[in-house]
Amino acid sequence: MKVNHHALELEQNYLFSEVAKRIRTFCAANPTRELLKLSIGDVTRPLAKVITDEMKAAAEEMSHAETFHGYGAEQGEPFLREAIAGYYQKRGITVDAADVFVSDGAKCDLGNLCDLFDADNTILLPNPVYPVYYDTSIMSGRRVIFAAGSKGNGFLPMPDDSVHADIIYLCSPNNPTGAVYSREQLREWVAYAQKNGALILFDAAYEAYIRDPALPHSIFEIDGAETCAIEINSLSKTAGFTGVRCGWTVVPRTLQYEASLHDMWFRRMATKYNGNSYIIQRAAAKVFTEEGLAAVHKDIDYYMENARIIKAALTKAGIHSVGGENAPYVWMQCPDHADSWDYFDHLLHACGIAGTPGVGFGTAGQGWLRFSSFGTRETVTKAAEYLSAL
Ligand code: PLP
Repeated sequence: MKVNHHALELEQNYLFSEVAKRIRTFCAANPTRELLKLSIGDVTRPLAKVITDEMKAAAEEMSHAETFHGYGAEQGEPFLREAIAGYYQKRGITVDAADVFVSDGAKCDLGNLCDLFDADNTILLPNPVYPVYYDTSIMSGRRVIFAAGSKGNGFLPMPDDSVHADIIYLCSPNNPTGAVYSREQLREWVAYAQKNGALILFDAAYEAYIRDPALPHSIFEIDGAETCAIEINSLSKTAGFTGVRCGWTVVPRTLQYEASLHDMWFRRMATKYNGNSYIIQRAAAKVFTEEGLAAVHKDIDYYMENARIIKAALTKAGIHSVGGENAPYVWMQCPDHADSWDYFDHLLHACGIAGTPGVGFGTAGQGWLRFSSFGTRETVTKAAEYLSAL
């Protein structure tokens, strides 16, 4: 038996476990001190009642022979795919329900999409970036190159015509930097993909946090993207579904490489997946109703107010930061050119605040720290008092 040697190339010291370990050590050594956790990547607000009521109603259906549901439609229930297409339509974006594939989350889809591509592909990743793109590319034995984010480009790296890539991951709004590409910038990426015969994997998991009406929520707002892009999205951060699981991927039938990626993805999903739970799909469809959207936007407003408070505190302290205006993450530059992990330790021990070291998201994150706005208002307000006095 031979193992997948590429899987052994992954760094064992996973960012979030190291953060958790250091927090545990701090708490054990300082049992009376309060921990202000701004490192949390999970939501903290409960699911909206309108959503859980729908889950209960769907669960009730499952207990009667006449309304029971077994295996569902392979691509996801039509009522949910229609609801997702309708959600795009509200913004004037054309996405056909037939191109929507429902899943149990964006992370799984991002990993599973690797099944469609040959190992002999060059992957272009923004640096810093959500670690799943890198880890899944390494596990499947692909070459990875980076486009560096920096203070200068606002952590929104742009294509370089002298570099060839086959598959490009874009995440906008970005985790960890909170930066969001403009329509013009996405046009450049689409033009680059078309010129290189490349594919864009666009992760829109945080699109619901965009406030600025000029900013694009989907790659399919860009002409031509339907010939060179797949979009991955999730209800985890939009509607608090991190624990109940529901995402989707749009694979247009207009994508034509050596073969139809839509047909390949359909075949892949039908082979290795049996669909999300009916109860969860009903709850997900409820999110896209008027009352569902009103409820989830209340929670998004809550988190975005947290982001505003964190950012305002940093501004008051004269500390440069990116993000936080159209994303639930604030990306802070460590003062005095401090190293990410050193500053993480400093903030933890001096103020009891836990951030996430930027370097854990890529080398270009060195010297930066990520704050998440998913905590409670109480935690954020207390942390902001410390931050504004830094
Ligand atoms: N994409 C990005 C950029 C994320 O930050 C996350 C979660 O943190 C995900 C995808 C994963 O979403 P899901 O919970 O649907 O797997």
